[in-house]
Amino acid sequence: MTVTRFAPSPTGFLHVGNLRTALFNHLIARKAGGTFILRLDDTDPERSTEEFATAIQEDLAWLGLTWDRMERQSERLGRYAEAADELRARARFYEAFETPTELDLKRKKQLNMGLPPVYDRAALALSEAERDRLRAERGPGVWRFKLIQERIVWEDGILGPISIDAGSVSDPVLIRADGQVLYTLASVVDDMDMGITHVVRGSDHVTNTATQIQIIEALGGTPPAFAHHSLLTGAQGEALSKRLGTLSLRDLRKAGVEPMALLSFMARIGSSQPVELARSLDELAEGFDLAHFGAAPTKFDADDLWPLTARSLQETPFEEMADEIAALGVPDAIARDFWDVARANIGTRAELAEWWTLFRDGATPVVEAEDRDFVAEAFAMLAEPPYDAGTWAAWTNAVKDATGRKGKALFMPLRKAVTGRASGPEMADVMRLLRKKPTL
Ligand code: GLU
Repeated sequence: MTVTRFAPSPTGFLHVGNLRTALFNHLIARKAGGTFILRLDDTDPERSTEEFATAIQEDLAWLGLTWDRMERQSERLGRYAEAADELRARARFYEAFETPTELDLKRKKQLNMGLPPVYDRAALALSEAERDRLRAERGPGVWRFKLIQERIVWEDGILGPISIDAGSVSDPVLIRADGQVLYTLASVVDDMDMGITHVVRGSDHVTNTATQIQIIEALGGTPPAFAHHSLLTGAQGEALSKRLGTLSLRDLRKAGVEPMALLSFMARIGSSQPVELARSLDELAEGFDLAHFGAAPTKFDADDLWPLTARSLQETPFEEMADEIAALGVPDAIARDFWDVARANIGTRAELAEWWTLFRDGATPVVEAEDRDFVAEAFAMLAEPPYDAGTWAAWTNAVKDATGRKGKALFMPLRKAVTGRASGPEMADVMRLLRKKPTL
């Protein structure tokens, strides 16, 4: 049974980087007919908010990234305390009392001597009496996990074989001095308790993975399969981390990006497969394979989402748009017709309203000075609506006979006068949908 999870901290809005992680885990579970868990990593009470927790769920729901179960770390603090006791019982957990300033000094000394800035484990050498004295003086210490200093190896689903020397990593702090359990421990306990089989996350977590593998083993568990996807960069290869705030899923949604456009894009960038618009998450899941992804940073350019969004709209069947079109006030009798004409001419859903306003009320005509008399004469030859599929041909034939104009000189001024723009749907379709006679 495949079980995956997406584990955001509710300390901000989801952005495209988070989406990559969520989508990969969702697709792996979906493809295998397994379980996808949404886990809120909310052990930090100062930074986690209910507003962000709700927003995360809304954003995932908008994209159809449904989850089979939701978990919250804040409800599992008792379990983490048990795991901490277990680590103490196995002599893999020790209390350390250095202040941040002291740790900083140690690091600077090590760097000066050309050594890696790894915690020197001074606290391990403290006697019982020294610990009691420090605790009395400074209050409770932090709790560090005692790494076994050997190479930690795993076969990464994207990066291939990884080997990290535990001696080059500081014993991680798992509990802060104020008693707050940190993500590194909480996540391991959750992954074990929830039977997580695959963990896909960003490559900024590679060192975490090394220490977490040892923690899992210290607790008697078996590590899941790990895979680390590359981080996103901007179109020029520049780091995206600072700009991710402006690439939130909410903002993309507000700007009019279509869910399947975004999902199709995120499922393929950074892989050897071309970006193609998929019709459903099932289709994306079917073709999804971590083996297609590489370690190199992945370029993300939000501009690439617009052609896909337009395509996605073009391929959206009327049935899925019926409510939205009715809400615009389009009469039922012409709703389907309206969608068929409009969908090839919109970049976002918002533009649908513009087309409906045009058909209902008419456009502000665009008329070049030299065409004024011609357009006035043509409009005078046009009857009141209703119009039908033959109106355009009959009207322009009559205008041609009366004025001698033909071809582009005949059609373009009329198109611009009727629609206010130089391009758009076939004029026969425009005329058929028009509710009002155009005027100058
Ligand atoms: N809350 C962690 C994060 O957002 C989860 C990392 C993980 O997938 O284990 O970075």
